[in-house]
Amino acid sequence: MEFSSKLLENAVNEVSQLPGIGKRTALRLMLHLLRQPENQTRQLSESLWKMREEINFCANCHNISDKKLCEICANPNRVEEIVCVVEDIRDVMAIENTSQYKGHYHVLGGKISPMDGMGPGELNIHSLVEKVKAGTVQELIFALSSTMEGDTTNFYIFKQIEPYNITTTTIARGISVGDELEYADEVTLGRSIVNRIPFETSLKNQ
Ligand SMILES: [Zn+2]
Repeated sequence: MEFSSKLLENAVNEVSQLPGIGKRTALRLMLHLLRQPENQTRQLSESLWKMREEINFCANCHNISDKKLCEICANPNRVEEIVCVVEDIRDVMAIENTSQYKGHYHVLGGKISPMDGMGPGELNIHSLVEKVKAGTVQELIFALSSTMEGDTTNFYIFKQIEPYNITTTTIARGISVGDELEYADEVTLGRSIVNRIPFETSLKNQ
């Protein structure tokens, strides 16, 4: 791609590093910004920078938050005895959209995936086990995607918390297997949380 402006070329190169955005799309977006009032670009860049600088992770569940505790953990009406284990914040958003779940979350920040250099130590597993050890949690719901990495992660955590004798469940596997949780439609996802099954049962079905 030949550019008549180095400034434009730089901007296109930066934006095209984002996932799912190729150079053509990046160029279209940059030309769009150039046609808009200057102020729009300033607000866009300022909001991106502010997000990067000031964003926090909830001290309790590792959800992205503007405060020390996220709104879910800080809400006294949420059931802290039930904790739903998810891969990332998109899963929290998807499950919240169903309005079927009133417990807490624990965001792992990924799945165990040796191929990608993701071991248990890279994920928020230790703090989850500590939470269970502390005695408040009565049920852990595994809601990772049903991939091999998801299964491995579930099983690893299950083994870690087994001595503490709490209920472990998993969301029903009927939801579009192999797809990420975020793509399940709200009704199906909501139903699978309500109709969750004991984790041991899910192991036998494999
Ligand atoms: Zn939280």
